[in-house]
Amino acid sequence: MSASPYVTSITRQSDDFPGWYTDVVLKAELADYSPVRGCMIIRPYGYAIWESMRDELDRLIKATGHKNMYFPLFVPRSLLLKEAEHVEGFDPQVAWVTRAGGRDLDEPLAIRPTSEALIAEGVKDWIQSYRDLPLLMNLWNNVVRWELRTRLFLRTTEFLWQEAHTFHASEEEAAAEVATGLECYRVVAEEWLAIPVISGRKTEHEKFPGAVYTRAIEAMMRDTKALQAGTSHMLGQNFSKAAGIEFLDRDNVRRAPFGTSWGFSTRMVGATVMAHGDEFGLVLPPRVAPIQVAVVPIFRSEEDRVRVAEAIDRVLAALGEDAAGRAVRVEVDWRDASPGFKFNHWELRGVPFRLEIGPRDLAAGQAVLVKRTDRSREAVPLEALPHTLPGRLDAYQRELFERALAFRDANTRRVDTYEAFRTVVEEQGGFILAPWCGDGGCERRVAEETGATIRIIPDDSPDEAAACIVDGRPSERRVLFARAY
Ligand SMILES: [Zn+2]
Repeated sequence: MSASPYVTSITRQSDDFPGWYTDVVLKAELADYSPVRGCMIIRPYGYAIWESMRDELDRLIKATGHKNMYFPLFVPRSLLLKEAEHVEGFDPQVAWVTRAGGRDLDEPLAIRPTSEALIAEGVKDWIQSYRDLPLLMNLWNNVVRWELRTRLFLRTTEFLWQEAHTFHASEEEAAAEVATGLECYRVVAEEWLAIPVISGRKTEHEKFPGAVYTRAIEAMMRDTKALQAGTSHMLGQNFSKAAGIEFLDRDNVRRAPFGTSWGFSTRMVGATVMAHGDEFGLVLPPRVAPIQVAVVPIFRSEEDRVRVAEAIDRVLAALGEDAAGRAVRVEVDWRDASPGFKFNHWELRGVPFRLEIGPRDLAAGQAVLVKRTDRSREAVPLEALPHTLPGRLDAYQRELFERALAFRDANTRRVDTYEAFRTVVEEQGGFILAPWCGDGGCERRVAEETGATIRIIPDDSPDEAAACIVDGRPSERRVLFARAY
């Protein structure tokens, strides 16, 4: 790829991926640092990307029968302590309010790191009978987890997210719910963000504190590292029992309901940047792109400006919609700046198509359409353009997904020995499918010695008798190892 004559200030992705990421997030104006270390200001362009995935996820969650509601920001200390494993897992990350209203509080209040404890307490009186189940709740809010090492969007002290919380009469129903939540995330990741994901189960070590098990989807970023893109937890009766929730079942026996919780956060904005971006900045999938087509008028004289403006107006008036009836999002850049400056501006922001319209193009009844991914230029007739844009955007969306999938496949390797494993981690990176006996000691050793962790036990990993790469004990199937964000 040739260097852009306009972009001079982004760290090269191939030289320093983390530096590139930070440059893109700041310079594309997705977010900025705040006076509080580890917190971020989400700027309008970044927030619009979040809103797009949020709205789609919200639609999917509601379509599966969940209702949105709200629980408070503060969790009394005594509530957080009720589920022992939960508090142990979260304690190092909890921020506490100990003084308010001018005096020390009798009981410290946690700023929610997640809402399981508060919700279990809150719904106790609502769940009396099997007729009150399932209870399907969803919350859009912010949470605080005191992180030592932070990175914009990927790991911030405060972040925005969605947390679903549900209660069910049976374990089977709760297990189906865990799958439903994960499926909502898969759809948003793959169909909205064009990020292919692998779904599976977390190991005991990696599961959510207080859960029976955790399922998750994992994605590969452009530096071949893994990113967890959404988690769904089977809570069993842990939180119900801790809070003393009981319902009268059909057989007149009192039982604790089975719970689930699942979450998806603003970290996915960072994932979208890292899954598609290139040396010139962001590459956004059309469905989440706040602007899908940037029009750059090219003119010198006032006479040309008027003619170009008229042509642009005609194109805008005739714009079609995509298959789902969505209008194409267009921005016409009339700023007092050179075309080159504008090209750079929209490339950095990952706008899928740029349309250049100038007097010479107009004379030929056409305009130049430039595709962000390969920066190819195509002269397109102005008459046909408005109606072909939705189809071009759909194709672009599919191409991004296919490109990410091919990249992931090319960077996924099967290894059978620890020696080969260490070589691949060091020299190539990516996803590694390797046999593991299921022992936490082996898992820890690999993490300590190579920095790669078991991301997931993939759902589609077939039974395959083999020897654990660490200690040679029997392994039933391959698990997915990678260095991760
Ligand atoms: Zn082992």
